[in-house]
Order: sequence, then C-alpha cells, then structure tokens
Amino acid sequence: ANDNVESKTDVLIIGAGPSGLMAAYWMARCGINARIVDKRGTKVFTGQADGLRSRTLELFDSIGFQHRVHQEGHVAVEANFWVPDGKGNLIRQGPHCSSKVNESPFRNMLLNQGRIERFLLDSIQEHSDLQVERGVIAETFEYHNEVDDDPMGYPITVKLRTLSDEANPPGLHMAGPNQSAVASGVAPGNLLPDDWIELIAKSKAKETKTEIIKAKYLIGCDGAHSWTRKQVNIPLEGSTTDHIWGVIDVVPISNFPDIRRLGTVTHASGTILVIPRERNMVRLYVPVQTIEASAASEGRFDRSKITLEMIKGRVQAIFAPYTFDFQICDWWTAYQIGQRIAPTFSKGSRIFLAGDAVHTHSPKVGLGMNMSMQDGFNIGWKVALVAAGAAQASILGTYDAERHRLAEMLLDFDRHWSGLFTDGDGESKTRNMIKVVELFEDFAEGRNSFYGTSELVWKLENDEGPPAARHMIPGERFPPVKLRMQADGNLRWTTRLLESDGRFRVVILAGDVRTATQKDRLLVLTQHLSKSDGKQGAVLDRYAPIVGCFDCVIDVIAIHSAPWTEVEFFDFPEILRPFDPVQGWKYDKVWCDDACIWDRDCDGKGYERWGVDRLLGAMVVVRPDQYIGWAGELQEVDELTRYLDGILIQKTANEGL
Ligand code: FAD
Repeated sequence: ANDNVESKTDVLIIGAGPSGLMAAYWMARCGINARIVDKRGTKVFTGQADGLRSRTLELFDSIGFQHRVHQEGHVAVEANFWVPDGKGNLIRQGPHCSSKVNESPFRNMLLNQGRIERFLLDSIQEHSDLQVERGVIAETFEYHNEVDDDPMGYPITVKLRTLSDEANPPGLHMAGPNQSAVASGVAPGNLLPDDWIELIAKSKAKETKTEIIKAKYLIGCDGAHSWTRKQVNIPLEGSTTDHIWGVIDVVPISNFPDIRRLGTVTHASGTILVIPRERNMVRLYVPVQTIEASAASEGRFDRSKITLEMIKGRVQAIFAPYTFDFQICDWWTAYQIGQRIAPTFSKGSRIFLAGDAVHTHSPKVGLGMNMSMQDGFNIGWKVALVAAGAAQASILGTYDAERHRLAEMLLDFDRHWSGLFTDGDGESKTRNMIKVVELFEDFAEGRNSFYGTSELVWKLENDEGPPAARHMIPGERFPPVKLRMQADGNLRWTTRLLESDGRFRVVILAGDVRTATQKDRLLVLTQHLSKSDGKQGAVLDRYAPIVGCFDCVIDVIAIHSAPWTEVEFFDFPEILRPFDPVQGWKYDKVWCDDACIWDRDCDGKGYERWGVDRLLGAMVVVRPDQYIGWAGELQEVDELTRYLDGILIQKTANEGL
C-alpha cells in the first residue's frame, strides 16, 4: 500500500516529547516548512516528569501559556526535611526556602508532563497548521555530503513508517481498586476534556505506509534511546549506579502531616522524596533496593521484579509511625539511576540532538523536562531563523557550546543530589541537602545560563555587563521586571513583553526623557535605527524578513525611567508608536519603569536591577529566546549594527540596500 512516497521539508523533528514540541513551537511561530513525527500513538497523559523550574515558566510566559500552568499546577516553594528523632518518631526540620525565590516572577511548580505537552501542542496549533504525526517511526537514515554546503540542498534522507493502530495501541488502562494492575496507563476518569479529544481522534484506523522524506535540517528529540543519535554514531557516555528506585503518583490516604508539602522523609535505609501535585495527587520517589554492584555495572536490572505493592510497603516502613495507603494510583514505574551524556549535541551543521537524546540522569533533581525543553527552545529558534533565510547558518554552531556545558552541570548536580538519598543520616543529611541545593540553585532555576562568547553573545572580558548596564550581562537572561505601559497604565512582566515570536529585540532604555538632552539622544538613536534619516541600510531596513511572519526581524521597544505622568505617549519618536490608518497607533512599544500603587511587583526599580543610570539609560539587544546578546550605550549604533551583521542576513541589493 502507498509505499515510498517522496517528499521534502526544511526541518524534520523526530520525537514529540517536551524537547521536540518546544523546537516545533519555533517552526510554527516562524512559518517554517517543517514536519514532526513520533512513534507513539498518542502524547503522554500521565506520569513521567512533573517539576517546572522558574526559568522554564518564564519561557512559557514568553510563549503565552504560563497562566494555564498556574491554573492547574501546584506551587512548591518551601521544603521540609523529616528525620528520625532516635525515639521511633519522625520530626520536621524546616521549612527551608531559598532567599532568591523572588528573583523570578514565577515560583517552582508541579504539573505532569502530559499537560505541558498539551499546552505546547495548543500553542503550535494557534500559530500554524503544523501537526504532530503520531504513530510514525523513523526507520532509515542517509546523509548526502555532496549537498552539505548548498543552503538550498536537502542532505538528509529519512524513511518514515506509519504504524497501524494494531501495532501501536493508544494505551488505555482502566484504574480500579486493585491498583497493582495499573502500570504507566491512562485512567479515563482522570483525563481532562482537551486530552480526551486526542484519544477519540486516535481511534480512527490508520493504514501502514512508508515515506521517504528529504530534509535540510534534522532535530533528533527522540529520548534516551535516541534513534537519531545512533544513526549519526554519537555515543552516550557515563554510568549507572546500583540503586533501584520506585516512583508513584497516588492520591494518598495518610496521616503524615506534610503529605501535601514538598520535602523528604529519611529512614536508616534511605530517603523518600515527597512532591505534592495537582488533583490531590502526590508523587513519591522511593528507594526500593540495591542491586549487586557487578550487575549494576553491566547495566542489568530486572524491572519486572519491582511491583507497586513492593513500593507501597517501602513507603509504609519509612513513613512509620505515620500511616500510608492509597486507592488511586495514576502512574508508577521503577528505574535505575544513571548519568549519561553525549560528547557532542550536533553532527555537522545540519543535525542536532536535544533533551534526553543527549543527557539522562535521575529524575529526582526535577530537571529532565526543564533541560529538555530548554534545549529544544535553544536550537529551535536558531534552526527556524536559518531555515527562514533570516539568520546566518553559522549561529547553529552555538547550540552545542551553549547547551553542552549546562548538561554537564546537570549531571554534576544529579550526582551530588542523588547521593544524598542513600548516604548519611538525619541532621547531617538535611544540612548537606540544603548545601547542595544552594550550590546549584542559580543553575537549576535557570537564573544563570552561563552562555559563553560567540557571534550571538558579545561578552566583556570580565564576564560583566557594560558600564552603562552593569547587570545586563550578555549570555544571561534579561532580568525580569514588571513595567507599566505608558499609554494605558497596564502592567506586564518583561518575560511576557519579550514575546518569543522569532524576532530580535532592541530594547532602548531611554532614561529620563523629561530632559531635553535625553529626548534628543532618543530621537537621534531612533533616526539611526530607522530609515528616517535617509541613510540606506539603517538597522531596521537592513536585514531579510521572516517571510510570511514579520517584515522586519528586529522589534524595537523603549522603557523610560520618568514618572509616567510627566511624559506623554505622543512625545516619543514615531518608530516607537507605529500608526495604521485602520488599526490606529500601536501602544505597546513604550513602557515605563515607574512604581504602581496597586501592584507591589511593579516597584519602579527596574533600572536599579539592571544596573542602568536612570538619567542616561542604555541599549540592549535581546535574542529571540530572551537572552541578552549585546548591551551598550544609546549612541553605540555602529557596534550594535556590527553585532547584528554577524548574525542576520542582509537584504540583497535589489531588495533595498
Ligand atoms: P521524551 O519525552 O522521551 O520524548 C521522546 C519522543 O521520541 C517519544 O515520544 C518517543 O516516542 C519518540 N521517539 C523515539 N524514537 C523514535 C523514532 N525512531 N521515531 C519517531 N519517534 C521516536 N523526568 C523528571 O523530571 N521527573 C520524573 O519523574 C521523570 N520520570 C520519568 C519516567 C519515565 C518512564 C521516563 C521515560 C522519563 C521520565 N522523566 C522524568 C524524564 C522526562 O520525562 C524527560 O527528561 C523528558 O521527557 C525528556 O524529553 P524529551 O522530549 O527529550 O524526550
């Protein structure tokens, strides 16, 4: 039937887990001709990852669905550590709360991976017709070196096979009181309506067929056993340890006082991690057994020997004298801890690997899904802009450099953290846990990204921000601040304002525009940026567009520091208030760092946080992923242009230069 149909696509994404969907979001946003396939018949509905760090939530805000996570998820800010008191009881140590918790608009949240996939799928659909092709497996791979250098060439050939439903059933399991029967399945009673729709659609029969697809770029997001990684001969290096863990998502029946709070419970034989979740659920990570060191080193672990009853028994023993039982189990599994990383995340300049495909570790650090999505986010916009003909292919080389270092830090964190669950006792364990959390906190929360110097990141030698914007450090995220819109007083966090739509943003920190000199500096700057000084090749008219999405790959916004009552929207230069005869003015380009009495988050201290002089201001270029690429003074248009020239594709002569 229908075999070996041939087709072409600019970008092929293999795997529609969190990293693949994140990469696909950018394809949808930038109008790229792309395909995304997954061998599973449906998306994930239960289980797997559940922890969301603040930086990931900031990215969700920039995409536009953070509010959905907030509505459904569970916030977990404080941690409690329960230890034996030596008299047969457990006592609470804590609560422990990070002193840096307010450095992001968002606190850590917990919500199952299936819902995050839902929100990503909805965002993709909102912006394009791109659909995940489910039940489609990548089977064979060829690379044609002869067209490697041709930007219009399709060096990648992949054979896809659509699996029939008999070969790939949707995996519905009924959950009843005898929970031992439920393993990694879907209990229909727990499904939310928008997920049900997918399962109903899935019930349509599919015929088996194959397709030969040629692609310019390939992003392998196909998980820990990555098929793509194997095709390009990149190994996963590392080891497994000798500990077997059980993980259960249950609605607990327990008199343990902190069953609804994040924390740990320690016992002589190990430590349980307690994670409160949506819909009255709790996730428990439970040490189940230690296997022979020799078996562990050979990677042997018989998962079928671990049962739900066994895990429940371990929880009851560790929780004693408190009770523990459940009637509802949403999901459970058992796993062996291992830390593995690929030596490189790319092959040549056309093939990239993201997420679990290139790094795996124990799930207890709660970073698997976060790191995977952040990988997909990083490579996604770069491939999208290159495929759109808007950015130079050389930027693709920054993916490996930016993400590999962070994956190494992830494994380091995991080694420190996981060891604490099996070694040490009571108080010293609590102290060590807090120490490790504090040591890795800036990395884990994504407050520091540590992106090094490249064409995308113009760093100063001392790794600091320039004198004009001391805390605007190239390679780091734009420090979030809540601002007021000049025209209507509405408030918005910069995480939302710097929307992930594919464009670079020149953020003009216009300073105190009440003074004539500052007003003049702003006017001169905007004339240089736009065509209005008659100069050919001005920044806003210099680069190729994102065809079908934006005429200009650069957006400009201004944030001034004067009290909003003392300047008016119409005082600002025209490029900051574009006019359309039908739609009227665009009001959302002029913002104000001014305190607001009805919202304490909007405290008018943005300039201080950014290390910027309130009178003189500064200028910053923010990459499409909200990381700072360049920062300097308002008059440094030539340097800013050189920065952008190294990244973007200039319009050809007949297009206007
Ligand atoms: P995945 O989510 O694994 O997605 C890969 C996708 O690729 C899959 O949908 C797969 O079907 C598809 N695929 C694979 N091969 C092919 C092919 N040849 N053709 C087409 N499609 C293919 N993380 C936590 O933070 N906490 C946890 O408690 C936790 N528990 C986990 C339990 C299990 C059983 C698993 C498997 C993972 C768990 N994780 C956990 C890890 C977390 O789910 C991952 O870090 C995250 O899902 C990685 O996202 P990804 O998109 O890179 O890979």
